[in-house]
Amino acid sequence: MRLFFALEVPADLALGIADWRARALPLAGREVPAANFHITLAFIGELAEAALDTLCREVDAQIAARPAAAGQLQLDQVGYWPRPGIFWLGPQTWPDTLGGLAHKLGGLGARHGSERRRDRFQPHVTLFRHCTTPPPAPTELPQFALPYREFLLMESRQGRHGVRYAPVAGWSLGDPL
Ligand code: ATP
Ligand code: MG
Repeated sequence: MRLFFALEVPADLALGIADWRARALPLAGREVPAANFHITLAFIGELAEAALDTLCREVDAQIAARPAAAGQLQLDQVGYWPRPGIFWLGPQTWPDTLGGLAHKLGGLGARHGSERRRDRFQPHVTLFRHCTTPPPAPTELPQFALPYREFLLMESRQGRHGVRYAPVAGWSLGDPL
């Protein structure tokens, strides 16, 4: 199974973001469906189903036992990464605790064979894939609040109509500071 850790984008917020995208941005590459909006914390990749329980127990013991604080992100900037061809929406700043969580989850994944990522963590919601030229600035600046109280382990599956994600497990975050 193909797995990654992520923050969920609540459905009403996802619709708001999709509306803003339609108003403020030209079509740039392939639109990610609103139902697929998420913020990846750490990509695990292919994991044998038999190892799933071990991975979840490790999260229980090493991460959920002393959970990072819940919080809120202000999605207030867009960005473009030419190499993967991704146009995204994300926060300009975020709590160190969220970066710490992403780092720890990446560390767990690395022990299960996923590649440790070297690039800096930038929380982002992918808006367009296969975006080959830098898109123009949005005509309306984004300003979306994304509250998060838990993180999820998601399974990614290729379906007939593209990729779909399904939650496999979730862990609560601690009281906000
Ligand atoms: P598709 O690959 O079908 O275009 P997708 O990229 O959303 O769709 P996955 O490849 O399963 O689906 O990826 C799930 C999540 O993990 C996405 O947020 C994706 O950006 C991220 N991801 C995928 N591969 C990597 C990788 N090698 N390193 C870091 N993050 C990755
Ligand atoms: Mg992919």
